[in-house]
Amino acid sequence: MVKLEDNQGRRFEKLRISLLNSCNFSCVYCVSENFSNSAADALRFSANEQPLAPEEISRLVESVHQLTPLKSIRLTGGEPLLYANLFPLIQRIQEIGISDIRLTTNAYYMKEKAAKLYDAGVKSVNISIDAVDQVIFNSISRHPNTARVFAGIEAAVNAGMNVKLNAVIMRGKNDSQIIPLLEYATGLGVKIRFLELMKMGHLYHTENALFFSEKEILSAIQSKYQIEQMQRETAETAHYWRASNGGVFGIIANESTPFCHDCNRLRMDSNGIFYGCLSNAHGEKLASYMDDSEKLAEKLSGLLRLKQPVKFHGSELSMRNIGG
Ligand code: SAM
Ligand code: SF4
Repeated sequence: MVKLEDNQGRRFEKLRISLLNSCNFSCVYCVSENFSNSAADALRFSANEQPLAPEEISRLVESVHQLTPLKSIRLTGGEPLLYANLFPLIQRIQEIGISDIRLTTNAYYMKEKAAKLYDAGVKSVNISIDAVDQVIFNSISRHPNTARVFAGIEAAVNAGMNVKLNAVIMRGKNDSQIIPLLEYATGLGVKIRFLELMKMGHLYHTENALFFSEKEILSAIQSKYQIEQMQRETAETAHYWRASNGGVFGIIANESTPFCHDCNRLRMDSNGIFYGCLSNAHGEKLASYMDDSEKLAEKLSGLLRLKQPVKFHGSELSMRNIGG
């Protein structure tokens, strides 16, 4: 049998599924500047896309899970709350025997769905929010309605979910928001993670003037608060600190403090194509190998070998397709 562990001892243990590549936002770091997010565009995106059915996704997940046991599934996108069959899919994944099901969302539709998601078994959610200031938020998300996002975050907290906030920090765009975001998260009693900008999709091969480093994020926080570093958990993307305002924040620093060495993530895009590494655009459509476990294991082993040994370099993969 093919060994599903690479020579650095890495295995696939967490699967991230991009349910669809359409989204109601067009965040500048995710979607190229030329893209307009008019209603017509949103419809065009949705109309072109044929998201996989829950049964198709769960069959793929089950085949992979039998070969390499998955500890958790993260549903992402595009915007996963736009996936019409979200609740049947959650149920099917649970029937396979995977109970740890998480979500990454922009929270626009969270207010209506938070309690139902929690009851369905989604106990943990990452919510993207790049600014507290509405003008800045809107200029990044290229979407006018911020109030719904804040309401969505609060609904998730009130539903009892373990909420983490994610903010991609960009020079000159939202670096002024680091302290307000930290204070907002602390007030809510949730963790926030600041992300270094990643060279994905339209940002690949660009020299990015927007890049704002881990060191700069730390010094912005230290201009107001003292900080103390916490222990990193294995395969965790973020390093965490406790700030003297009582808040806990993390930094996901692909460039400054890479975390490839113990990466345990496998990804599937909305077309059922699996990727072993964000930094390698080669994917495998596994649907045709589901009844041939030898071949499936070979393909998974090939994807495992694509993981970077040390450091992320980016790729042409669009975050909107692969899900982050
Ligand atoms: N729509 C959902 C959301 O925004 O949370 C899920 C999909 S989104 C692609 C997943 C995550 O990827 C978000 O937290 C987003 O901020 C992050 N992301 C997208 N493009 C990025 C980039 N170029 N660099 C760093 N993070 C990025
Ligand atoms: Fe949509 Fe998320 Fe990409 Fe923003 S980051 S455009 S919310 S998929």
